[in-house]
Amino acid sequence: MKPLRELKQGGLLSVVLPSYNEEASIPRAAERITELLTAADIPFELLFVDDGSKDGSWAAIQTQAARFPQVRGVRFSRNFGKEAAIFAGLAQARGDCAAVMDCDLQHPPEKLEEMYRLWQQGYEVIEGIKVSRGKESPLHAFAAHRFYDILSRVTGVDMSRASDFKLLDRKAVDTLVALREKNAFFRALSSWIGFSTATVEFEVQPRVAGESKWSVMSLVRYAVTNIAAFSTAPLQIVTLLGSVVFLASVVLGLHSLWQKFTGHALEGFTTVILLQLLIGSILMICLGIIGYYIAKIYEEIKDRPRYILAEHCGGNDESASGKT
Ligand code: UDP
Ligand code: MG
Repeated sequence: MKPLRELKQGGLLSVVLPSYNEEASIPRAAERITELLTAADIPFELLFVDDGSKDGSWAAIQTQAARFPQVRGVRFSRNFGKEAAIFAGLAQARGDCAAVMDCDLQHPPEKLEEMYRLWQQGYEVIEGIKVSRGKESPLHAFAAHRFYDILSRVTGVDMSRASDFKLLDRKAVDTLVALREKNAFFRALSSWIGFSTATVEFEVQPRVAGESKWSVMSLVRYAVTNIAAFSTAPLQIVTLLGSVVFLASVVLGLHSLWQKFTGHALEGFTTVILLQLLIGSILMICLGIIGYYIAKIYEEIKDRPRYILAEHCGGNDESASGKT
């Protein structure tokens, strides 16, 4: 890709690594990334965000922070989820640009240099695009495709190959951190904010250690939360559904009247039961959808922080703040 303007010289790169129960991956990530970025002569800091891990992740981060001066860590008071961990990392990053990548090295750190060079050329959002989705079960692949189809439609951004592996200019980082919404969806918001964008393709690698944190239920919750965070289409579907049921009622109503006047009014008991059940359940589902949005408004209004920091290590050891 052509340079947008003169090459930026130097420039600190912050690498944000959300980590939940990754005690085995943390030392490997710290070593591998340090080795690669040192060889590439890129000034950097590594920022591990311990998302309330239940294993020895925090001890592992502290060990790496004692070992490498570039490593810093913050620990959440409990598990707040990957999105919160990403935003906490971005809020803490001190770099002129910041990369976000998985701590299990499924996002190949070899690509960081390519992304950083694009940033030096003036690109402000450098997105990692998956060439393949890596190994996953057919059911998972099917569900993921449907979810990304819907999401691409509601966000207007092609989400099928998007990932959380990105490098952002300071301007983009500040813009994202300033967004106040509680259900911030990093993958889509980093496209939504605009800025000059470049893409880098990568192959999803196998995990270096440990196992994926996603269960089927957590994926469904993730899908619902993020679709609702980006779209009010489900509310429009409620209105549409209401209109369809209304039209059907007019037809059925006329039919019933006609039966009454022709003396067949007692027939149709089954129809009545079926209609009651159908309309009842449609109403319940619609109320559920509306209720979901009300719950989201309630969450926003309460204005609780997206995460709570408990501890930090490495760097200049400033006091940890509960900054959101
Ligand atoms: N992660 C996190 N908080 C969570 C779940 C996951 O910070 O509640 C981190 C995890 O440590 C990893 C990244 O998010 O660095 C991706 O998670 P995982 O590998 O489980 O997901 P997958 O790669 O299977 O999509
Ligand atoms: Mg992973």
